[in-house]
Amino acid sequence: MLDIYVAFTPRHAYHLAKAGQKDVVLLEKSELTAGSTYHTVVGSHQPGSIRVTSIPVRVDELKYKMARTHRHPTTQWLITPEKIKELCPLLNMDKIIELDYGHIDPYALTMALAAGARMYGAQIYKPSPVSGLTPSSDGKWDVQTPHGIIRANRIVNATGIWDREVGQLIGFEHPTIPVKALKTELPVIRDLEGSYYLRQERDGMLFEPYEREEKMVLQDSWVTNGVPPGLSEFESDLDCIMDHVEMAMEMVPVLKNAGIINIVSGPITYTPDLLPMVGPHQGARNHWTAISFGYEVIHAGGIGKFLSDWIVTGEPPYDLIECDPNRYGKWTTVPYMCAKARESYGFNNVVGYSKEERFVGRPTHRITGCLPVLPRPSFRRTNWFGPVGRESNLVMEKVEVVDLTPFGKLMVKGKDSQKRLDRLFANIMPKVGLINISHMLTPTRRVYTEVTNTQLAPGEFLLIAVPDQNCTASGNTHKHLKTSHTLRSSGQVDSVDISNVTKDIGVLAMAVAGPKTRDVLQKLTQEDMSGSRVVDAGFKFLHCKPLQLAGIDLRAIRISYTGEFGWELYLPQKDMAAVYQAVMEAGQHEGINNFGTRAHTHTHTRTLMRYGLTFFFFYQMNCDTNPLEAGLDYFINLNKPADFIGKTALQEIKAKGLKRKLSYITIRTLSTRPGSTASIFLQYLQPSYRKAYKEPGICSVGQRVEVEMLGRKYPAMVV
Ligand SMILES: Cc1cc2nc3c(=O)[nH]c(=O)nc-3n(C[C@H](O)[C@H](O)[C@H](O)COP(=O)(O)OP(=O)(O)OC[C@H]3O[C@@H](n4cnc5c(N)ncnc54)[C@H](O)[C@@H]3O)c2cc1C
Repeated sequence: MLDIYVAFTPRHAYHLAKAGQKDVVLLEKSELTAGSTYHTVVGSHQPGSIRVTSIPVRVDELKYKMARTHRHPTTQWLITPEKIKELCPLLNMDKIIELDYGHIDPYALTMALAAGARMYGAQIYKPSPVSGLTPSSDGKWDVQTPHGIIRANRIVNATGIWDREVGQLIGFEHPTIPVKALKTELPVIRDLEGSYYLRQERDGMLFEPYEREEKMVLQDSWVTNGVPPGLSEFESDLDCIMDHVEMAMEMVPVLKNAGIINIVSGPITYTPDLLPMVGPHQGARNHWTAISFGYEVIHAGGIGKFLSDWIVTGEPPYDLIECDPNRYGKWTTVPYMCAKARESYGFNNVVGYSKEERFVGRPTHRITGCLPVLPRPSFRRTNWFGPVGRESNLVMEKVEVVDLTPFGKLMVKGKDSQKRLDRLFANIMPKVGLINISHMLTPTRRVYTEVTNTQLAPGEFLLIAVPDQNCTASGNTHKHLKTSHTLRSSGQVDSVDISNVTKDIGVLAMAVAGPKTRDVLQKLTQEDMSGSRVVDAGFKFLHCKPLQLAGIDLRAIRISYTGEFGWELYLPQKDMAAVYQAVMEAGQHEGINNFGTRAHTHTHTRTLMRYGLTFFFFYQMNCDTNPLEAGLDYFINLNKPADFIGKTALQEIKAKGLKRKLSYITIRTLSTRPGSTASIFLQYLQPSYRKAYKEPGICSVGQRVEVEMLGRKYPAMVV
């Protein structure tokens, strides 16, 4: 039985074979480096690299990125213009600033990986185009090659610009679009504002620009017609990159007198968000993808190892959810794909803010209102600071509404449903009519995802999976799909029916401070909603009930994802507008309004703090999180009889003691907003608060620590 790799460069074969996997086969349709790799620049030196910039916000960006990479052993420095001049005398020093990388020959890299793969026992067949992929009922694959059919345990599609065609062999439509990339060997540093890099290539300079959004050329006809046979290179088009050439001449004046030796223009595939699709693909067992790399030469080693570790150990070595191949769905239409890829490519080298909003693909479909202007990104206080604070306060004091439809929703039924869920979740499953929060863990005890579970009827569960930051209003979220994937692939054949109802069910979440939600909802239903802010008389906390609201049948869950008092209402999408209208009209007297997801997160954290709780939630949790370190003990039931995934590993870790712990710290600064996922700027609780992991020895209240933000160290204290 073979573990085979379909196509591409040998990075995956090398790492799998090195990890001791037997029978690794690499199938290459023509020659190694025949794809995009062929067009990538050559050269293999480690001269270091300097990023230069002429705008002040870049300094914040670079400091921000450097602070984030302190966790890793990277060699990088902020250097002065004088040092730059010393290292690179060709530069025009009217332009300014700093750091980074080396470079590598893609041909040599590919051949070295191939030699390494062979050394560890992998076989390479070329030319060997794969023309058919047939799944069998036992989860294996028949791979059709000119040498006959190979039966394989699993396959990895890593076919570069041909990824769509190979995907289509099994009915996938990967949302990847080839882009024409230009490179010009001119006599020439990474100029971020000029959006190009230059480096010495033998006696000359090599110049690679990243064209502007409006100038880049999309090969959209390839999406429908396939990659043309015999493709080598595109015609050169200097006009397309002339702006960048002129900026390079200004930065490096000697270029003005240099001649062009060679122009290389080849295709690269991009996804709408420019990130590759790496991992197991939902919808086909044992089918993995490693496609659509904009920068695979530099990413080859890391991605090969990442995927190999995942295949060999059964879980990813760290979280790369942003590269999940299942993040796209039927909503990824060709026009969306082209428009979004164009925008994302155009953002190559623009300032990269944390939590920034992009423009294309809007307005998203939602029932409730939202801010009329997009937030302006900043490394400091932004224009959403005020509005989010006001929204958050209204949630705490009055009654507000948010459309949370993007939350993933799954129905799980069947005779074995409870058994299956008990194996997958670290918390007990709730009794009929009740709700709880639970986590799916990986075998080595890291958090896979957080889910709100409700047992609607005996053996019938509604699972609400948190949306990722990148979710769309269509409701197909990474985490939701991962959840569904895990469910499907987790068990033996048992009697469990899982359906994705994300698109069918809307979520209107109501949150309030004080008794005002009760007042508003009571006007619309016969159900007893009475009680105070903290004591429920009729509809109790963590209960779920069918309800008629404004004449519409729905399901109400008394939990409130805001952390504040409130209900979530689950109802068919078609009824959302009517229920929203009714709620808004009923709440006029109470001063009802809309709020957004940023206020949602903010309110959640304020509530947790009020109750002295510190834990991660929503998108803050991922495969890099240990639930005990992240304060999730309350939701982990190590005493439950079922042997849930990750239980043994957690018990071992608990016995050994934790290496770090999450706690709150206060920092005395009003202006900076660090972008880590754990940070929330609680503006009405001065000074500002953040969550931070620390060694257990420095977690006690009153402990003084320092926090680095944008290159400056601030005094902070554990609270
Ligand atoms: C001009 C240019 C400049 C670039 N500059 C850089 C840079 O500076 N740094 C960087 O990191 N990246 C750069 N890139 C991007 C980089 O080249 C690509 O990300 C990388 O080469 C992609 O590698 P890959 O293995 O995924 O795909 P490819 O190199 O395209 O390999 C895919 C392989 O699959 C094979 N194949 C296809 N279909 C089948 C089939 N049915 N059966 C068997 N085999 C099949 C093909 O023959 C091919 O060899 C550049 C690209 C271009 C075009």
